[in-house]
Amino acid sequence: MNIQQQFNLKGNEKGYWFISANGRLWLPKGEVPNGRADELGFTNKLAQPIGEWNGQIAWLICDEMKNAMSSIRSLLDRADQSLFNIAGRAVQLAEFYRSHKYCGYCGHEMYISNTEWCCMCDHCKERYYPQISPSIIVAIRQKNKILLAKHVRHNQDNLYTVLAGFTEIGETMETAVEREVFEESRIKIKNIRYVGSQPWPFPNSLMMAYLADYESGEIEVDTNELIEANWYHYTQLPKIPDYGTIARRLIEDTIILCRNYDQYGNG
Ligand SMILES: [Zn+2]
Repeated sequence: MNIQQQFNLKGNEKGYWFISANGRLWLPKGEVPNGRADELGFTNKLAQPIGEWNGQIAWLICDEMKNAMSSIRSLLDRADQSLFNIAGRAVQLAEFYRSHKYCGYCGHEMYISNTEWCCMCDHCKERYYPQISPSIIVAIRQKNKILLAKHVRHNQDNLYTVLAGFTEIGETMETAVEREVFEESRIKIKNIRYVGSQPWPFPNSLMMAYLADYESGEIEVDTNELIEANWYHYTQLPKIPDYGTIARRLIEDTIILCRNYDQYGNG
């Protein structure tokens, strides 16, 4: 990607405006504002093009607005995920710039590179890149049932979802899938298949999604992470995550496999 540095807006710049501070985005009326910089009152503000959305330039301004600073979760329920993804880039870059003003090695002030997404130290020449934390998410099927768990962090909204966790240093994604499942539920799985990925900027994950089949073991939950985990028949599911999340896609994919199992008895 052709990266451009931050510069002060003249006023005639047009596009979509991603105004971000503290992990939140300015969403007046729930939407990303669109229009000319001067009409929106952004003249002279420091801005940076961070890509394109809907055929127009996407601009990042690292700033806090008085009202309507929101989580970008509300952008997830759109049919088109590209808005959520570019908003995630904006929020994460704003946080990255805020936390990388000074070099961790020598303490000198840093500047934003104009060739890649990174902050550079002019003194010791160290480069810092935005942190992306790979994590795994996996749906497990046993015959016509799916394993769903209520996570400690979802207790309030009574939501049941698939298992997930961060990849550790020096670990492959596949090993992380097996390890996380065993740590959280004490079961063993087989036939691990990659499905797809979703940037998950809360605060900086990249989720890699997998399907797997049950192999052996009895469920025994890690109570630090989970309140409960059970096998659910695909026609009798509890409250599950919304459309737009990769967790929902994994569950939908597994429902199809469960239905096939009932119809054809395979797997
Ligand atoms: Zn330095």
